[in-house]
Amino acid sequence: MRAFQTLRLRLLIILPFSCLFILAAVIFIALSYLNNKSVASSMGHQFAQELSNRILARVDNLTEVLPKIININAGALQKGLLDAQQPQTMSPWLLNQIRHFEHLNFITVALSDGRYIAAYRDMKRPDALQISANFVDGPFQLTGYIPTADDHIGEPVLPYYAYDSRQRPFMQCALQHPASPCWGDIYRYVGIDSFAVSLSRAVTNQQGEIIGVTAVDMSFQQLNEFMASLNIGEGSYAFLAEQDGTLIATSNAGLPAEHGDDHQRWSLDQHPHPLFQAVSQYRQQHQTHGNLQVGDKTYLLNIRQIDLGHGLSWQLGILLPKQDFLAPITGKNRDTLLITLATLLTMILIGGYLARVIANPIENISELAKRQALDELEKAPFKRSFVPEVRKLSVSLAFLARELGTFIRELEERVQARTEQLQAANIQLQALSELDGLTGIANRRAFDKTFSHEWAQARRSQTPLSLILCDIDHFKSFNDHFGHQAGDEALRRVATCLAEQLHRPGDLLARYGGEEFVAVLPDTTASGALELAEKLRAAVENMAISRDDLSDSRCVTLSFGVASQVPQQHDDPQKLLRLADQQLYAAKAHGRNRCCSVSVALAPCAPPCTDEQDPQDKSA
Ligand code: GH3
Ligand code: MG
Ligand code: MG
Repeated sequence: MRAFQTLRLRLLIILPFSCLFILAAVIFIALSYLNNKSVASSMGHQFAQELSNRILARVDNLTEVLPKIININAGALQKGLLDAQQPQTMSPWLLNQIRHFEHLNFITVALSDGRYIAAYRDMKRPDALQISANFVDGPFQLTGYIPTADDHIGEPVLPYYAYDSRQRPFMQCALQHPASPCWGDIYRYVGIDSFAVSLSRAVTNQQGEIIGVTAVDMSFQQLNEFMASLNIGEGSYAFLAEQDGTLIATSNAGLPAEHGDDHQRWSLDQHPHPLFQAVSQYRQQHQTHGNLQVGDKTYLLNIRQIDLGHGLSWQLGILLPKQDFLAPITGKNRDTLLITLATLLTMILIGGYLARVIANPIENISELAKRQALDELEKAPFKRSFVPEVRKLSVSLAFLARELGTFIRELEERVQARTEQLQAANIQLQALSELDGLTGIANRRAFDKTFSHEWAQARRSQTPLSLILCDIDHFKSFNDHFGHQAGDEALRRVATCLAEQLHRPGDLLARYGGEEFVAVLPDTTASGALELAEKLRAAVENMAISRDDLSDSRCVTLSFGVASQVPQQHDDPQKLLRLADQQLYAAKAHGRNRCCSVSVALAPCAPPCTDEQDPQDKSA
């Protein structure tokens, strides 16, 4: 689901599109394949059915005349049209009959006394008809005779041999089953190149006594020729077999019905070709049609009973290779598949193009929005897209971008103004926080900050840093005498006076606390600082803020402690401050209104303030 949520727009457009098409294509191909297969199968069965109908029609056409002839002849014999007393007179009748049916090789009348006459066709020379008879040249002496011009028995052509028709199967069969015609066994007659079969029937007189047998023999030559002429294609077979599986005829010389010099007929189960063996097994399961698998080939098999009447039936089998029907279908399926694939590819390309046309602008706009590229969005980059939604989106976003841009610019200007105001206020606040409220000079906080900064600076540059710490002398007394307001005023004047003496930009004067002041003097040696301290002291004294609180009626003065040092790596700045303080105390101790100085690297105090020094000495 998560992956689906992160699918790109163009995939979202093209995926369902393609999936639906692929699904439709698969269903179409599958249905088409199944339909084609079914059509092919039904065509195969139809073809087999039509083929078998043709063969059946031919077999019917060949055999239907057999019972008619024996019945006609039986009737003629019964009615005396055929004279049983003079069978030689039957010759024109029989010859006339056989002349009309080229597939017949014997039309026979056998009398119950054993006499026999037949019209005979040599199948090698169908027009050369003969008469066979066994009574002309002696009883039971069978030979063939050339018919005379009027179809009577003429010259003999074959040697005589003994022949009693009552011993022959056709007559015996007819006599044993007088009620109906009797089919003889399929045989191969001496002198003809094909098999034949006989149909015979007994003939009775008015009293019901059997007076003879009429028979007809049909050669299979025309049937064989017909089967061979079927031309049903390579690998397709049709065959005729007896009920016991003995082959009668096949459509293909490659699978003959007979073998050997003695022309033995194959039975299906013993046929050397595995196809017929498979048919035999199939036949035993009483299946009439279906698929037969032989090796890697599948055949459509259709077996049909042919009822020849009078208790005889044959089996007609058709074998068609399924591949012959499926091959064109496979070709069609391949064409369908190729066309479908080509269409699929085209659809995907069109889908891809459409997805690009729709998704590209939206993805670009989304990217611009993500980058907050308002200036590019303002240009409405896809206002000319032919997709109306994209056009509207682009124009709307451009409007929003302009509005947003204006708003942001105004906001920025306001923020800028506020920031400047705040900065100014901050600076002011900062300044105020570092100023002493009473005197207006820097306060203790400013001193601490500046001293720390200058200390670090001096240590880096290895330059001397000096501090001057000063304190109004006897100021308590001043306050006590003149009041605190006067004291404050005095403090302001002293501060202003001291500040006026400092001219270097780096110097700082701060109120250290109470009536004490401190000056930070960067890059100033001890002597320079002492000189400045003295200048400060003199300046205040010269202001001459008179005070009569003191017995000696002096004016306001300050005592100064000066300390200098070139700060080293591990030196403590507070130590310099303490040294200055000590010097201040020393100045106080030595009588006030004086300066005492010390340098860390030099001898302390120059000139040193000592206890022995005159407290009134102002040039300490
Ligand atoms: P010394 O000469 O030893 O410094 O004597 P001193 O009286 O000046 O010293 P002390 O420390 O005893 O007194 C300091 C006095 O300074 C106390 C106070 O009355 C006065 N003072 C401190 N801060 C202020 C201030 O802000 N305004 C006024 N008017 N007086 C102050
Ligand atoms: Mg003090
Ligand atoms: Mg004081």
